[in-house]
Parts: sequence; C-alpha cells; structure tokens
Amino acid sequence: MQIIAIPTEVARNIRTGLAPAVAWVAEGGEPCRHCLEDAAPGETMLLFSYCPFQTDGPYREVGPIYVHARPCARFEGDAIPDQLRRRLLALRGYDVNGDMLDAEIVDGRQMAPLAERLLSRDDVAFVHVRNARPGCFACEIRR
Ligand SMILES: [Zn+2]
Repeated sequence: MQIIAIPTEVARNIRTGLAPAVAWVAEGGEPCRHCLEDAAPGETMLLFSYCPFQTDGPYREVGPIYVHARPCARFEGDAIPDQLRRRLLALRGYDVNGDMLDAEIVDGRQMAPLAERLLSRDDVAFVHVRNARPGCFACEIRR
C-alpha cells in the first residue's frame, strides 16, 4: 500500500506564485498535503484549490488544501502518517476512469484495513483519503 502525497511540482508552483494561493498564519494543526505533517502555530501555510484526479468525468472534484509556505520534503512511504491517524477520514475507491465505486468513513487509526479492503477489489484503481468533516483531500493510496 503506497501513500501518495501531492506532487512536489504542485507545491513548488504554489510557493513560487505560478498558481494562486492565499497565505495563512497557522493556528496549529493545519495539514500540509506535501509532507503530510501538521503546521505548528505561527507557521505560514498556503491555501489553494487542488484537483487530485488525473481522470475526467463527474467525480473530478476540486477543493481547498494547505501546503507549507517553506520548502518541505514530500512524504514517501507506506506507513500511515500521524496526520491521518489523528483524524476522522473518508476513503473513496475509484475505478480506472475515476468513477467512485465505494466509500466509507473511518477513524484514522483504523484506516489501513479499510484501504486494504477497498484496494482488494479488482475494479478499484486508486483510493482517495479526505478529512471526513471538511471534505478536503489528504492523499491518494495505491497498491
Ligand atoms: Zn509540508
């Protein structure tokens, strides 16, 4: 199970002003979607609209996410980050065309078994993780 944060190029384009963003002084806990760590109080975050889909079609959502204004290392690996363990999450399984096939809400500490169940379906190509309450995109999961 591979946990995929937003591409570094996306974060770089936001930080350099190539794409529009709003600067936000963190209260603490705002989730960076590049390093998958939460902001410390007082840190500057950039808030912008992001579409996590490489597919077209009706499920292609765009929504608000944060990245650190400072350079940060893109999350790599398959261990579930604390940022996700601390939250109520929505996991949505999509087919190769980006159509949603299944969706469930889960306590982040129990995310792994749900992700594995969704990815065990032959017709699920990828899973998107979102914060369940605000609905903002967190990361993608692939086998
Ligand atoms: Zn970051």
